[in-house]
Amino acid sequence: MIPIVIYSKQTEIPSGNCYVIAKDGVYLQKDTGLISGIVKVDKLSFLKEVIARAEIKIPPISLEQFLQVRMFFRAVYNLYRSEAIVLLYYNEASQEYLISVPEQTVHPSGLKYIPEKTEKDYKLVGSIHSHANFSAFHSNIDHKDEANFDGLHITIGNVNKRNFSLSLEVAINNNRFKQEPEEWIIGIAEKKLILETSKRYHFILEEGKTMKDYSFPQRWLKKVKEMVYEEPVYPEYFKLEDKLNQNNPLSFPQFKYLDLPKPGER
Ligand SMILES: [Zn+2]
Repeated sequence: MIPIVIYSKQTEIPSGNCYVIAKDGVYLQKDTGLISGIVKVDKLSFLKEVIARAEIKIPPISLEQFLQVRMFFRAVYNLYRSEAIVLLYYNEASQEYLISVPEQTVHPSGLKYIPEKTEKDYKLVGSIHSHANFSAFHSNIDHKDEANFDGLHITIGNVNKRNFSLSLEVAINNNRFKQEPEEWIIGIAEKKLILETSKRYHFILEEGKTMKDYSFPQRWLKKVKEMVYEEPVYPEYFKLEDKLNQNNPLSFPQFKYLDLPKPGER
């Protein structure tokens, strides 16, 4: 077998054929005496493959807590027609979740939030955010936001409808793994709707209870502010379709225009 060298500060690459694991990947050194060189390779064909996976050792979220979040998102939508976010903390000793609402500014297709300080005895294990009246998915912006945020990330879409959409992913080191909603949220079930292509979900409430029996702490709403943004000013080199796209607050990418120069700064 060709030797494998881990190339660190203390290591020299020996002569002869070998694989070298370096800072930026795997290299193969070929040395036949007359011809020699070291080139990058994308695999070590004689080794076994690793199948990437992620596991997160937390229990499903209770119906009560998820319903609170759902009702909160609906209230924010009714006030601002916008998205919102909550952070999910978990206490390993008591095996309980804590829903924490960070300070956030929101608009119909995006939001900005200030990450909370740590919660005593709890670990940050994920997030839940809404997509207003859009369907649930994880956008490129979500992926970017969650690149350094390992954990369970849930998106709730169509919050203005009784039957909402869901997208769940576990993120680890910027890799993402799709999850089944029923495995992570207690008391929900898929609702088959005619004329609806995306999967929709509804709550299965305890007997005698209605949605009105579940409310969220009203102080949560105090953390949410509507985003105010100035009329965007575009550099001349912007193409017309970019202008059209960015003029529409419901289109992606979001916030790009907030960083553009203001009148007088150009
Ligand atoms: Zn999103």
